[in-house]
Amino acid sequence: MNNTERITPETIRYNLTNLRQVTFEVTDDCNLQCKYCGYGEMYCGYDKRESKYLDFKSIKPLLDYLIDIWKNSMPDSSAPITYVSFYGGEPLLNVPFIKQVIEYIEASELNRKILYSLTTNAVLLERYMDYLVQKDFHILISLDGNEDNHSYRVDKSGNNSFYRVTNNIQKLRDTYPKFFKTNVNFNSVLHNRNSVESIHEYITTEFGKIPSISELNNSGIRPEKKEEFDRTYRNKSESLRESENYAKLSQELFMNEPNTHELLLYLHKYSGNVYRDYIDLFLDPEKAYCTPSGTCTPFSKKMFITVNGKILQCERIDHCFALGNVSATGLELDLNRIARVFNNYLDKIQSKCSICYRKRSCIQCLYYIETINQDSPQCHGYMDKDAYDAYTSFCLSHLYAHPELYNRLMTEVVLV
Ligand code: SF4
Ligand code: SF4
Repeated sequence: MNNTERITPETIRYNLTNLRQVTFEVTDDCNLQCKYCGYGEMYCGYDKRESKYLDFKSIKPLLDYLIDIWKNSMPDSSAPITYVSFYGGEPLLNVPFIKQVIEYIEASELNRKILYSLTTNAVLLERYMDYLVQKDFHILISLDGNEDNHSYRVDKSGNNSFYRVTNNIQKLRDTYPKFFKTNVNFNSVLHNRNSVESIHEYITTEFGKIPSISELNNSGIRPEKKEEFDRTYRNKSESLRESENYAKLSQELFMNEPNTHELLLYLHKYSGNVYRDYIDLFLDPEKAYCTPSGTCTPFSKKMFITVNGKILQCERIDHCFALGNVSATGLELDLNRIARVFNNYLDKIQSKCSICYRKRSCIQCLYYIETINQDSPQCHGYMDKDAYDAYTSFCLSHLYAHPELYNRLMTEVVLV
């Protein structure tokens, strides 16, 4: 890879102008105590949880900064859309903050569409559903399947939250059926008390939705909890393969099927039949400029603000990678410094990426490379020729077994 690119402060400003999502961690408090929680005892790499609640004045300098950029810069699209999202802990524990943010944005008369979204455990869903419907929220509900499947999602006394949660979901569906159909989705965490099949069967039968299914996060595990993690963890591909109705399930899950997702990347990057834009059409992919690794550039996907005012690229990375800070006293977001720090990471991984056969379809986020702060970080995703041949063979075998996927992946899916 000789044609590697580095980012500039202008790249970041461009990303902010076109920001697709800004997510606030509105509280680190939660009314549940799920056994596998990413902010629980199994993990490290996040600020200490202190039952804090974000207050509006501590993020106002950032909102003013973004609003100023959005009003005074020209976005790529004539009808830009930005999601303003609320995350926790449990975000419905801090609805006053959510209401203030929305009121402020609505009063700002932005020349872009703002959509609101929320990830919730649904314990307080009934109490706030009228407001969520009124503001046309997109809601992602965490539900791990049937009562047994859901049994890691317990309250502070250790009781399964299943009945409270499903009663609230049913109330939302019965009161606002149209909203439920268009605005509500489910996410389930896969572990040793459920399976892809049991999750899928329960949620499609009870609520008529296809859930997204996530594996437990395998980075940032406390060494002393590794054994417990290994016991709890379940691999999505393996769980799917063990399903009695594998073929049917695999077809229904489509992009949520890990092998199909891998095939999509392969076809989009190596088939020679997919072009992102007209420039792409004329460039030799081997000579095209790109940044090393599969990491998004700062704020090209989203911006995440922690309950302590740290500003990060997303909610899935260690808080030590904060790019700035916001508080009631002001905003610290130095685009020159962010570009410098990010480029420094790219420089470190460059030599490995330049000889890696996976570089064109790389999905490795550099913030997940445990040794990224060392001089010569080692990437687990690195592929030599043999590993790449095995990867190619794996993707083509999946295509051979499911030839119908070619047409669907080429016509129904857009990679952004
Ligand atoms: S995990 Fe990495 S690549 Fe993915 S959105 Fe976060 S920062 Fe970007
Ligand atoms: S898999 Fe690792 S070494 Fe290979 S291109 Fe991606 S980041 Fe670089």
